[in-house]
Amino acid sequence: MALNGAKRLAGSLFGKAEMPDLGLGDTGKVLPLRPMMERLLSLDREAWGLYAWSREPLEGKFDREQKLQYQRKAEACGREEAVLAAAEAVLEVPDSLVKSAAASMKLHVTTPDTPVGGGQVTFAQYVEPDEVTIFMDAVEKAEALAASEGLADLLGNVKIFDILLAHEIFHAVEFKKENAIYTKTERVELWRKPFSNKSRLVCLGEMAGMAFAEELLKLPFSPYVLDVLLMYGYHGAAATALFEEIMEIAGENGGKVEEETC
Ligand SMILES: [Zn+2]
Repeated sequence: MALNGAKRLAGSLFGKAEMPDLGLGDTGKVLPLRPMMERLLSLDREAWGLYAWSREPLEGKFDREQKLQYQRKAEACGREEAVLAAAEAVLEVPDSLVKSAAASMKLHVTTPDTPVGGGQVTFAQYVEPDEVTIFMDAVEKAEALAASEGLADLLGNVKIFDILLAHEIFHAVEFKKENAIYTKTERVELWRKPFSNKSRLVCLGEMAGMAFAEELLKLPFSPYVLDVLLMYGYHGAAATALFEEIMEIAGENGGKVEEETC
């Protein structure tokens, strides 16, 4: 895949992350997946909050402490909604609380291989009011990688499909509770005079969606780690660049992983 292809793909990552800038002349270094996943799994909650904020158009208006405060509130919102969703879900699908939750909410979940048109690779999406799409090509690539790279001990018996679905379910919850839920009602005033203009923060829903998935599935890690895994299935160099960007945002100098010499 050409790099511009990877750039298109990254606009629609799981966490709605944008493509890391590979830069001109970048040789497209590809690091081995497992050490990268190990590093990502060692990152703390704040690191993932700052990563989520790095995708927020209004990021520049806030200092670190404000961002972390928003993160705490967004994640509390996501967890709270997960507890409610779990309580309300009728276990229609015996092996999956997440699929049951989607069924209980009357969501239409479709599972095509790839998006129609093929120009852009998307992993999952929600369309108001009740459509969720999980693109199975991405899921299968990531699962195959997890198996071939021996990631089971790191990620546990986790179902990537369920994580993607859980995140999108949260967006459906947001739609349903648009006038009451924190992630939709919280506004930031961009300017006061002569007219007040209040804007939503996109990253709140993303952070809350991840916390929702984490709580619903009782994950021992942040679902954000899947951004790199899912990307790796399509473009190793782009996934490596994304990994390095995350480590930089996290403020880790030790983000280097030895390149494979083979
Ligand atoms: Zn989302």
